[in-house]
Amino acid sequence: MKAVCWHGKHDIRVDKVSDPEIVNPRDVIVKVALTGICGSDLHLYNGKIPTMKPGDILGHEFVGEIVELGSAVTNLQRGDRVVVPFPISCGDCWYCKQGLWSLCDNSNPNSFLLEKMYGDTGAGIYGYSHLYGGYSGGQAEYVRVPYADVGLVKILPELSYEQVLFLTDIFPTGYQAAENCSIKPGDTVAVWGCGPVGLMAMKSATQLGAANVIGIDRFPDRLEKARANCNAEVINYEQADVAETLHNLTGGRGPDACIDAVGMEAQGTGLEAAYDNVKQTLRLENERPIALRQLIRACRKGGTISIPGVYSGFVDKMPMGAVFAKGLTIKTGQTHVHRYVRHLMQLIQLGEIDTTFIITHRMALEEAPGGYRLFNEKRDGCIKIVLNPKL
Ligand code: NAD
Ligand code: ZN
Repeated sequence: MKAVCWHGKHDIRVDKVSDPEIVNPRDVIVKVALTGICGSDLHLYNGKIPTMKPGDILGHEFVGEIVELGSAVTNLQRGDRVVVPFPISCGDCWYCKQGLWSLCDNSNPNSFLLEKMYGDTGAGIYGYSHLYGGYSGGQAEYVRVPYADVGLVKILPELSYEQVLFLTDIFPTGYQAAENCSIKPGDTVAVWGCGPVGLMAMKSATQLGAANVIGIDRFPDRLEKARANCNAEVINYEQADVAETLHNLTGGRGPDACIDAVGMEAQGTGLEAAYDNVKQTLRLENERPIALRQLIRACRKGGTISIPGVYSGFVDKMPMGAVFAKGLTIKTGQTHVHRYVRHLMQLIQLGEIDTTFIITHRMALEEAPGGYRLFNEKRDGCIKIVLNPKL
């Protein structure tokens, strides 16, 4: 089959590889209908996540049709159209039973590496390096899906693949980020980053009762999506002082909650430093958590900082004095996608939220190398690329 493979920093190729096979009774094989390129994939593209190996298949956002089932999967059938959450979760461990799906104890065979770096394990993720289990990803014609009996959600017959693709990751990620803000009616929520995750966070914040949302970025087309599709006030951080503008927009108080949908892009080389630490060579240079510092500064006293943006390794010199003095709450983490898929699919079905407005490019799998380049450089108005193996 064809698959989008990582061969090194800025080196993405479409290779011929062997088809996946059922390995465990709880596996299924999904024939991929659509698959997204995520901002998280850019961390791999830019060589920020160690333990990638040349030939690893990328992609953790995919929907498709079941073509083969392991003997233990009795709740699904061949031909079912399914959403596949990006974290791989066993459904049986203490964490899965608490609904903390992305913290699953059993799905990552290499989690000892994370344990050494961070003191605890983390779930497996499709196509996201050997730190996260070394699973083959979904930017391919077929994928092996482990623990399919707990992970997969059938797509309502009236919904198209495109309508539900973002339930695999960025819609639940934006929703969890907004939920973590404990929004009360009348609240103002500011979102740093008007990429796919930031836009989904803005939509979700409104859905959860925010009276005002404010989007911050530097790309005019992304700010325009925030304004036109998410009803947000917008701030171009290259043209205005962000904290000052936010204070002016909120009667001098600051937003009730601030969401960091930027992550590592504004950080530096954190994970490499942490990973080197495992190898006993600690490096801490290039640490610049710019957006996060701004969030802490701008947020009102007693407010919430919600961080869906991915950070890894060390983020040093954080203004903890401000966090303490202002009594801020910080919430973050990988999204517990399984928790949200059914509810959010219903919102899509009811027409309350349409997530397809973020799609700017539809491409064949073969075009993925150019797609990664385009998305990384944010050229041609690129916000979200959807790959279709049938094109
Ligand atoms: P993206 O790269 O398309 O968007 C990031 C946006 O942030 C860009 O538009 C960029 O211009 C903007 N930005 C950069 N520096 C900024 C600053 N200082 N102030 C304001 N805006 C700034 O990526 P995306 O797909 O939207 O993903 C965003 C983040 O969410 C990434 O870190 C990604 O890894 C993460 N993510 C996390 C989860 C999770 O489970 N928590 C899931 C999916 C994605
Ligand atoms: Zn993603």
